Amino acid sequence: MSGIDTLPPLRQVIDTHGIAAKKSLGQNFLLDLNLTAKIARLAGDLSQCDVLEVGPGPGGLTRGLLAEGARKVLAIEKDSRCMPALAEIAAAYPGKLEVINGDALQVDPLEHLTPPIRIAANLPYNVGTELLVRWLTPQEWPPFWSSLTLMFQKEVAERIVAQPGSKAYGRLALLAQWRTEARIVLHLPPEAFSPPPKVHSAVVHLTALPEPKYPADPKKLEQVVARAFNQRRKMLRAALKGMAPDLEDRLLASGIQPTDRAETVSLEQFCALSRNLSK
Ligand code: SAM
Repeated sequence: MSGIDTLPPLRQVIDTHGIAAKKSLGQNFLLDLNLTAKIARLAGDLSQCDVLEVGPGPGGLTRGLLAEGARKVLAIEKDSRCMPALAEIAAAYPGKLEVINGDALQVDPLEHLTPPIRIAANLPYNVGTELLVRWLTPQEWPPFWSSLTLMFQKEVAERIVAQPGSKAYGRLALLAQWRTEARIVLHLPPEAFSPPPKVHSAVVHLTALPEPKYPADPKKLEQVVARAFNQRRKMLRAALKGMAPDLEDRLLASGIQPTDRAETVSLEQFCALSRNLSK
């Protein structure tokens, strides 16, 4: 029995169900239920929310989310070896946990959940970044979710909250900070995981703003930012060459010097530029 519920400790769950961590699935499990409960609390008040959890594994964070009183949890897990362990959690919280054995990139959560929806996940870093970008870039805003609480490699977390002028500033910072309030809320050393990864980790909490900080078309903004940071050492008049015949005028009209480099340009200026390039 563990501290947060009457289910067995996670190490025992892993042994019983033979869920040895697989590198190919990016599996580094959190085994300390006090820690998973803490991450669940960082997701905010769950009592009036449905929660989407991606990659529950043996269910440490899932148990935290349920113990914190989530209205319903939808857990999408690729590894079928985890299904019996997750079924035991579902039985301990009748009607509260729905588990899908599948790829989170292929499932439409809105077929299973009712807003308000919060998202929480400890995912392999590549899948996490792909899902984050997808959740940040829908055409319409506000999105289907109200907050994201996501574990990342520390360097990726720093890229999400980075400010202009820093090395970490780029596409992720701009996409995240345009439409959300993003904060690093927890740092974790490798030893917090089993097996320990080579890198440090951090949890980022992103709250969806009711509307973006500055008007811009998401596709145009993404395109401009991708081009600008693809050649971040180049001056913008060179990096964005070909985007408009009168590019230098449009840069100046956006408050940007043609000789500026992407890492010094603010979110407000990038939004202005994407509008000026759409005209
Ligand atoms: N949440 C658990 C924890 O904190 O202990 C497991 C974390 S482990 C880093 C990532 C989990 O995501 C693994 O269980 C893995 O099988 C699962 N996973 C990887 N890719 C996935 C995908 N595309 N869709 C759903 N689950 C995925």
